[in-house]
Amino acid sequence: MAKYVIQKAQAQLSHPQAKDELTRHLNNLASAQLRQLLETKHLYQKVSFDPTEIVSAIRAVITNIPNLTVFMNWVQGELIHRPMPLTKEPLPLNYLTTEHQPPFIVVQNIKLFCKKCGEREAFMPAWFADITEPSKRGGETNPAVKFAPSNPVLQLLILVYQCQVCTGQPEAFIVRRAGWHLELHGRSPMEQVEVPAYIPRPESRLFSDSVIAFNSGKSLAALFYLRSFIEQFARRMTNQWGRVTGDEIMIAYADTLPPAQRDAMPSLREWYDKLSVPIHSAKDDNEVYEVAKVKIEEHFDIRRAFRMPETVIEPKKASDGGDAADSAVEKPGPSSTGETNAT
Ligand SMILES: [Zn+2]
Repeated sequence: MAKYVIQKAQAQLSHPQAKDELTRHLNNLASAQLRQLLETKHLYQKVSFDPTEIVSAIRAVITNIPNLTVFMNWVQGELIHRPMPLTKEPLPLNYLTTEHQPPFIVVQNIKLFCKKCGEREAFMPAWFADITEPSKRGGETNPAVKFAPSNPVLQLLILVYQCQVCTGQPEAFIVRRAGWHLELHGRSPMEQVEVPAYIPRPESRLFSDSVIAFNSGKSLAALFYLRSFIEQFARRMTNQWGRVTGDEIMIAYADTLPPAQRDAMPSLREWYDKLSVPIHSAKDDNEVYEVAKVKIEEHFDIRRAFRMPETVIEPKKASDGGDAADSAVEKPGPSSTGETNAT
């Protein structure tokens, strides 16, 4: 078990040492997983901090049978039922004392996309609480909340973070601990979506809505938004706004691309067709979405790299009864800097 290095050199642990050793690893694992949850997961997704592997590594170095029995009874009978308090600093662990610290979760700095700063920044924990016990107790203004008996242990956590750079509006999360899982059950404000700079501005709302829909578990909506995104872009590029089939629009769009690059780029026409398959059968197809998004992004990144011009539709004047085609002009492609747009 190379992953968990048991600290004690002589590898003969008493049961208090074994408890401390497990607690130390469990603290690190739970803290890292909380960070992972908030940085990378979306609503109703979860992470695990199941310590089974750590327990195996530790029990392998307890050779004294009574020590092993006490340790395993503690793991199986007690540990999973213990609430894990939140803390800002790691609490000291004392080897050789039987009154070892309970496992706890260190609330660390995390990296989140900051809308105000326009990029991912370090957010520091500004305020956090485990509201399970206080809500069971109630108070002067709130009656006590009754919780049904819960096995494994249930904890409701509220965590508030703030961007260290701009100290803008705080971001709040509700996290539910159920046994060895941490689940993201709430977020305010809504998760921000980073839209790469090469995604064309006029249609970027459709792109970001597709990402939001996918992150919220609505893959069919995500597929539809993503297909609408490329269709609306192709309509703009070809000035076709009436009743034209998607296929015709995508063929016309492909003709606008320089032949030298066209064959090397993922084809929007091909991905329009592939996205249409699950849409026509109303299927939540995560796999198609994930591959399509990568390929479509690649297409636009190549457009950016070769500075391919975009057709810009000027806003119509009130007196202008003509078709949008009348006011279409070309402008150079988006800049090649790495900046991102937030929507
Ligand atoms: Zn900021």
